[in-house]
Amino acid sequence: MRSHRNFLDRPEYERRWIVDNTWCETCGKADLGIGSPQEYEEDHRIFVEGTCNECGRIVRSEIVNKDVG
Ligand SMILES: [Zn+2]
Repeated sequence: MRSHRNFLDRPEYERRWIVDNTWCETCGKADLGIGSPQEYEEDHRIFVEGTCNECGRIVRSEIVNKDVG
């Protein structure tokens, strides 16, 4: 089950890092960047999903929280 989180609650530097550090499977390239990022939680994991700046496909990144564990 997905629950929505507010991506805009994150500080700007963090948002920029997340949006810039991406991997697009369709392009097979890293760091193309994403547009319209949406954050959500699923199975206690946090993801940000957006559209690839290059091909427009959906790109999903998991946010690894260093504070956990
Ligand atoms: Zn792409």
